[in-house]
Amino acid sequence: MDTQKTITLTGEQRHHLIDTALTSRLAAYVPYSHYPVGAALLTASGTVYSGCNIEIASYGATSCAERTAAFKAVSEGDRVFEAVAVATSNGAAPCGICRQVLNEFGPHMLVIMVDDHGSLTWEGPLSDLLPFSFGPQQLAEGQQQAAES
Ligand SMILES: [Zn+2]
Repeated sequence: MDTQKTITLTGEQRHHLIDTALTSRLAAYVPYSHYPVGAALLTASGTVYSGCNIEIASYGATSCAERTAAFKAVSEGDRVFEAVAVATSNGAAPCGICRQVLNEFGPHMLVIMVDDHGSLTWEGPLSDLLPFSFGPQQLAEGQQQAAES
């Protein structure tokens, strides 16, 4: 059983993440949904990666703000996620695909949701949004069991 705890942010870190998510939202390219989303991802290195949603006319090629930020971080070699702030007009939660991507690199990370005024709508561990998740740990355990049988 993994008992690692979700990090606790300082007030300054929290403010910076929320502010960055709100600013990133302004860069969203959303000609189809008109639903801009901004994200700010804090990694263990202390770096904050911003992201916005980017919609493509061939809808399947679209990326959410959270995944944009996540892939920016991983492409820079930052693979340990600690917290993410997500800004939408109504303070909505990350979609299922983004929860899975965040779980890959930050199963214990903190998720903060705010509306377009920066008002908190939800805050808690990713594991509350993706309970009983499947990730690298489950894959490794399954492979180990297969090797032993
Ligand atoms: Zn998403």
